[in-house]
Amino acid sequence: MNAAPRFSANNYDFVEATTGYNWIGGQWVPAASGETIEVINPRYNKALGAAPSSDARDVEAAVAAAEAALPAWQATPIKQRVQVLYKLKALMERDLEALTWLVSHENGKVYGDAQASVLKGIECVDFGSSLDNMSLRNTMTVSRGVSCRFEHEPLGIVAGISPFNFPIMVPLWMLPQALVAGNAFILKPSEQVPYSTFALAQLLQEAGLPDGIFNVVCGARPAVEAIVDHPKISAVGFVGSTKVAQLLYARGAALGKRMLCLGGAKNHLVVVPDADVELTATNIAASAFGSAGQRCMAASVMLAVGDVQHIIDAIADKARAMAPKVHVGAITNQAAKARITGYIDQAEAMGAQILVDGRGAEPGDPGNWVGATLLDQMNLNIPASCEEIFGPVLSIIRVNTLEEALSIENANPYGNAAAVYTTSGAVADYCVQRFEAGMIGVNIGVPVPREPFSFGGWRQSKFGHGDITGVDGFRFWTRQRKVTTKWALQADQNWMS
Ligand code: NAD
Repeated sequence: MNAAPRFSANNYDFVEATTGYNWIGGQWVPAASGETIEVINPRYNKALGAAPSSDARDVEAAVAAAEAALPAWQATPIKQRVQVLYKLKALMERDLEALTWLVSHENGKVYGDAQASVLKGIECVDFGSSLDNMSLRNTMTVSRGVSCRFEHEPLGIVAGISPFNFPIMVPLWMLPQALVAGNAFILKPSEQVPYSTFALAQLLQEAGLPDGIFNVVCGARPAVEAIVDHPKISAVGFVGSTKVAQLLYARGAALGKRMLCLGGAKNHLVVVPDADVELTATNIAASAFGSAGQRCMAASVMLAVGDVQHIIDAIADKARAMAPKVHVGAITNQAAKARITGYIDQAEAMGAQILVDGRGAEPGDPGNWVGATLLDQMNLNIPASCEEIFGPVLSIIRVNTLEEALSIENANPYGNAAAVYTTSGAVADYCVQRFEAGMIGVNIGVPVPREPFSFGGWRQSKFGHGDITGVDGFRFWTRQRKVTTKWALQADQNWMS
């Protein structure tokens, strides 16, 4: 099938897309089952198109295409492989507008949030394209006439499984390093947002990537399980909920595979009285309500230390000014909307004070809207203050001391991100050293490490070793060979030389 599913939109008006197909060996192919899954535009709660519901047969076809293409790709020097990424970066910049609207339509993000996510994806491509210039292949003379060196060998056929909330960015956390390393990649995008990865496939082909080196297999659980179980797929990167991350990590590891599975989050922000009011309020509102709170780096719990009422008032003002549709994007589907409003209802029934109420943001509107919501007087008995809500809801827990705040943050099972808001370097350092999280912000509520600093949480937010981006990503998608060499007998040789 040659028809490429083109999608064009240049504003929020509803646009229908052609049915999508799997991208295997540089061709669009339907699922072996012939079945499809609807893809919903959350702004209208209406199907914009459909994509294949794949199973083990489709994964098998992708593996065969990857296997056929792999020898030539692995024989291509790294300096040539990175050229594909240089070109991809230029093509993504050329198509930035179109990619942004595509992400917005299938995910529901407002334009600014969608654009930021594409730009971060481009930054990841940029990092990948620089990998050939990094001195990862160290050599050292370790004895007289004896040298040791590292080589990073590709793993072969590898796969990535991505969530709904960042349709282009999360695949690009994995793809650049895996491709530059010389692997063939099979991507299983979230069944809720496959169209962005179709665009990525087209751009990679235009950038000169050989057919079969990047394949997209759409679908849900059957496709994922077939990928994790396939004996020829040697490593899997996963990003999604903790429940699925943990299950897949165990399943893949039991088969001896390399697995890196990023899960959910509950990020805490500690606010102390000396914090800068405008900076803190603006930043916390953006962190909690931007991307409609549907990001693993969103602020979820504010630990208000002492008297910070003036800052809470300022956050409430910012929250009221963040209108759904304009500043706060749509919730991914109706079930997610019901889950989020359910948490708010329950918190209210359990005694929370609702400072800003995002429920019923647009009565009668078919879209999935929940506005910015600020819950005060929260405590750890109320589920909204401890469980991942994944919506634009910020819970405020009031505490008297920094120690109390840190003990709440430290006790939560997730460890993705944490932040402190203060003008004191000593307070900042104290918290930075004591937070139990992998990504820490000082006066920054979305402390996403910019490339080349790597992305990854701790504890229930990540299963597996190392981070997913940066040099860690390159290490994950390669295996390290250590070569020790001698060309002449040496007088002072020992058993190691
Ligand atoms: P999800 O776990 O429901 O789905 C993620 C992927 O797993 C999808 O491709 C989906 O098709 C597949 N999947 C779902 N259920 C499965 C099952 N039972 N067996 C096998 N595969 C299955 O997550 P989501 O709703 O798409 O994304 C939101 C979640 O992702 C949140 O928990 C969020 O915190 C997390 N997330 C984490 C990070 C991070 O860096 N830690 C980044 C983005 C999102």
